[in-house]
Amino acid sequence: MNREELIKWDKEYFWHPFTQMKVYREEDNLIVEKGDGNYVVDIFGNKYLDGIASLWCNVHGHNHPKLNQAICEQVGKISHFTTLGASNVPAILLAKKLVDITPSSLNKVFYSEDGSEAMEIAIKIAYHYWHNRGFKEKSRFITLSEAYHGDTIGSVSVGGINIFHQKYRPLLFDVYKLPSPYLRALELMGKERALSRDATKRLIDEVEEFVFQHHKTVAGFVLEAGVQGAAGILPFPEDYLKEVERICREYNILMIVDEVATGFGRAGEMFASIKEGINPDIMAVGKGITGGYLPLAATLTTDEIFNSFLSEFGEAKHFYHGHTYTGNPVACSVAITNIEIFEEDRVLEKVKERIKLLEKRLGEFWELKHVGDVRQFGLMAGVELVKDKKIKEPFDYGLRTGFKVANSMRKRGIWVRPLGDVMVIMPPLSITEEELNYFLDSLFESIRELEI
Ligand code: PMP
Repeated sequence: MNREELIKWDKEYFWHPFTQMKVYREEDNLIVEKGDGNYVVDIFGNKYLDGIASLWCNVHGHNHPKLNQAICEQVGKISHFTTLGASNVPAILLAKKLVDITPSSLNKVFYSEDGSEAMEIAIKIAYHYWHNRGFKEKSRFITLSEAYHGDTIGSVSVGGINIFHQKYRPLLFDVYKLPSPYLRALELMGKERALSRDATKRLIDEVEEFVFQHHKTVAGFVLEAGVQGAAGILPFPEDYLKEVERICREYNILMIVDEVATGFGRAGEMFASIKEGINPDIMAVGKGITGGYLPLAATLTTDEIFNSFLSEFGEAKHFYHGHTYTGNPVACSVAITNIEIFEEDRVLEKVKERIKLLEKRLGEFWELKHVGDVRQFGLMAGVELVKDKKIKEPFDYGLRTGFKVANSMRKRGIWVRPLGDVMVIMPPLSITEEELNYFLDSLFESIRELEI
């Protein structure tokens, strides 16, 4: 391997996602060669703690012997065969497992390759379901400001992050938009009470008033499962999801929950929906489903939704969606082993301990001059950097303050990727107590360096 050539070709031929390539081409970038538990190793042999779980998807660490074995065993049988009108063993077994571990309302599994597609499918199914039932006017979706459900045109349509989505507005379908729960609660109640039950009450009154006016045209209410992750880890106030569920039931609206980021242990339970005690009509999962190994996602639905698509062939009522690699057996095999490791290694018990440690230590960050807010949801957190704490004045976007802090973290042997100026803490669930403490110490010091 010629390292100089790799660096040159990376800059010459590879267009990276969500990356300003002009800046990337001027920088010294991480080129990963290997993984080792909670660490990645670059082509020079430098080792970094993986502070963002790859992209919020790694669960039990990299290069895990059992996950590797699951892949090798399946490759030794067959790597791929279509699931359009045919089936394969791992896809069937995984569907059964997913139904067993998700909320009891969900009984059917439709596979896809990534979170965005799982959300596209959720939207298409919801729209189609109401048509199947003869309610053609129920064709719009209630969505939230600051939502993120992926990058494809449908998932961008139900998204609400201006910097990512505004450019494509003319290509998108119309949706109803309600405020981001956290930001609205902050406005109404202030930081101290933003996540309280009282905040929920005020927000829900507004939601209910809106739904009362528009429910006849609403197919589904689309929202992330308790936290708006990509917007900078913005948690929902207490019982917000539960109240949305109640409203959806009352007004005949499908509740469509995006668990792509929160699923598979991140919330401290297998799914945030289980933690919150809700039974969605449709739920999208992705990221951690394969332990962060292979591209796989799924959209789960109720029997009632599934049954509405059943007909004689000639009625052409079936769901017209499916990709070349839908239900890939290698990805499904590693997903099955991923779920088994949760039980074998008592992963959720350990995650709960890490969540407590994170909660305890996050309080320290408030004393830093350039920290304007600190937010947590399960084993994920966001530390927001601001220029002036008193008035929460942000740093100039072009200064790339978040990236500066990330670079200091890299020097300390930790790889992170901020969301703008929000430092994200999102390690693999397998992070040890010692590693998490080191991560937080390093982040604290790296942010403090901004004061110099
Ligand atoms: N939904 C949520 C809540 C997400 O956080 C993401 C990705 N960050 C997606 C959907 C899109 O998933 P993917 O990148 O796999 O398409």
